[in-house]
Amino acid sequence: MSIYITPQDELHVEYQGIALTCPHCQTLSHLTAVAVPKFDDLNRRRPKQIGIVFRCDACGEPVFLKFFVKSYSALRIELAPNYVEVERARESFPLTYLPEEAEVLFKEALDCYAANCFNAFGSMCRRTAQSLFRELGERGKLELFDTLQEIRTLAELDDETFAALRGVLFGSDSDPWPSHPHLDAERAGILLEVMRDLLYQTFVRKARLMQAVSFRKFVAPGQTEAGFDTSRSRVRDEPLA
Ligand SMILES: [Zn+2]
Repeated sequence: MSIYITPQDELHVEYQGIALTCPHCQTLSHLTAVAVPKFDDLNRRRPKQIGIVFRCDACGEPVFLKFFVKSYSALRIELAPNYVEVERARESFPLTYLPEEAEVLFKEALDCYAANCFNAFGSMCRRTAQSLFRELGERGKLELFDTLQEIRTLAELDDETFAALRGVLFGSDSDPWPSHPHLDAERAGILLEVMRDLLYQTFVRKARLMQAVSFRKFVAPGQTEAGFDTSRSRVRDEPLA
């Protein structure tokens, strides 16, 4: 993809243009440039990085991206196609299904991830895990470990990645230094997916299944006649989403 600024201060993006998940409306949307730095000014100062303000075509909110400059010339300022999102879309997760303390901790973990603070994200994931171990007891901790093993097989995680994930979630703060594996963007991304799956399997899936089962019992044929218990209608008030 070729992307450059013309002497008329216009941004040219070849092919499909720029599309990303908008940090404001969370939809995958195209962006339109609304504030491009001046060509002459850039050519005079020649910064390594430049910032451009876009408008999300879906919601109209501003999105700020930073680009590295590949080359300066009298005809165009060529930018590198990969950009840095200054404000990233938040990762969504049905947090309300988690125990109260874990909900607070994992919400902060997601905030760290959105801010590209990957080691802070890892630390908050460990705190989330510690809170869950306390909540679920030794048996629950073993079950979580089994779920992590299942994810390892399903996702075909290599030994090194698995060891890092295990170190983050099941390691102890009193382990010998470094007690916490270092996380880069790639490993944090894998940890995020593993956390989602782990928490989904342990809490969300069960809660939703139980809601669905209660609902099926409520609407089961034959129960609407004699002996119908009206107190069951309360089940309907619970959201099924
Ligand atoms: Zn938007």
